[in-house]
Amino acid sequence: MVIDLNKCIGCQTCTLACKSQWTDRGGREFMYWNHVETRPGKGYPKDWEQAGGGWEGDELRPGRLPRLREDYGYPVEFGYEALFEEGEKPLRPADEMAWGPNWDEDQGAGEFPNAYFFYLPRLCNHCSNPACEAACPRQAIYKREEDGIVLIDQERCRGYRYCVAACPYKKIYFNPLAGKSEKCIFCYPRVEKGLAQACAYQCVGRARHVAYLDDKEGALHRLVNEWKVALPLHAEYGTQPNVYYVPPLSPPQIGPDGRPLEEPRVPDDYLVELFGPGVGAALETLREEMAKKNRGEPSELMDLLIAYRHGDMFRLDRP
Ligand code: SF4
Ligand code: SF4
Repeated sequence: MVIDLNKCIGCQTCTLACKSQWTDRGGREFMYWNHVETRPGKGYPKDWEQAGGGWEGDELRPGRLPRLREDYGYPVEFGYEALFEEGEKPLRPADEMAWGPNWDEDQGAGEFPNAYFFYLPRLCNHCSNPACEAACPRQAIYKREEDGIVLIDQERCRGYRYCVAACPYKKIYFNPLAGKSEKCIFCYPRVEKGLAQACAYQCVGRARHVAYLDDKEGALHRLVNEWKVALPLHAEYGTQPNVYYVPPLSPPQIGPDGRPLEEPRVPDDYLVELFGPGVGAALETLREEMAKKNRGEPSELMDLLIAYRHGDMFRLDRP
């Protein structure tokens, strides 16, 4: 999957499309197989980038389990009686919440007039070198031959949670009711029927392209291998993720005299931290192609990213 961060509007339609389809009950209440976090921010679960996991060379890097209350957040009871009855009990929940999905939405960083943020949709990357699979002592996690989707065999899983600690993206969740680990299944039942993943199909911003990377006609090959404008998130974790991001362009910073400066609003260093050293060249290509389009010249890249026809965004047949 390629997600174009210049088109994501943070509407969370993808989050809801996923949640209502797969995780709306049965111990999955806190699970978001797909979610969209505001960057810069601590994300979901909180500070997942500091929780370890992934690879260090050929060895698994130690990781820690996110904590339910502190890192995921948990459901709280509101005192709804206060709306209808006089009394002491406040509407506000008695429990102090410390974190939850979307906790720091639109907070971002920087000072006016140079404050900035962008949205980062996240799901399991269906990695080619999945740390979750390597960490499971039960061999319950496997990558499907036919399409590369990484799945957990629910019959084999015993809920040891080694996979949760090992995934550096913290995209496996433990279901306390089932006593098993669960994760994004890349909507394989939909894919097998020729339908795109719910998050991609419902995307309001038309930000998500799906295809096989080795399909020469598909958007993935063109954006990742040819144009090199779509980059993996934290490639240094070593899992070879298969979700790629078109990095966000931003306007120039405004100087004290009200004039634009050279530096972009979203700092280059921060984008390099997320998407690696190729991000500068990717942004340059995007700017050049955008300028062409603005001058009325043709741009294959811009046409691809604009995605005039919804159906063209999904190529689900193997090449
Ligand atoms: Fe496994 Fe995490 Fe990679 Fe998904 S993102 S395949 S859960 S290591
Ligand atoms: Fe972004 Fe699309 Fe998700 Fe909306 S549905 S938050 S535009 S990825």
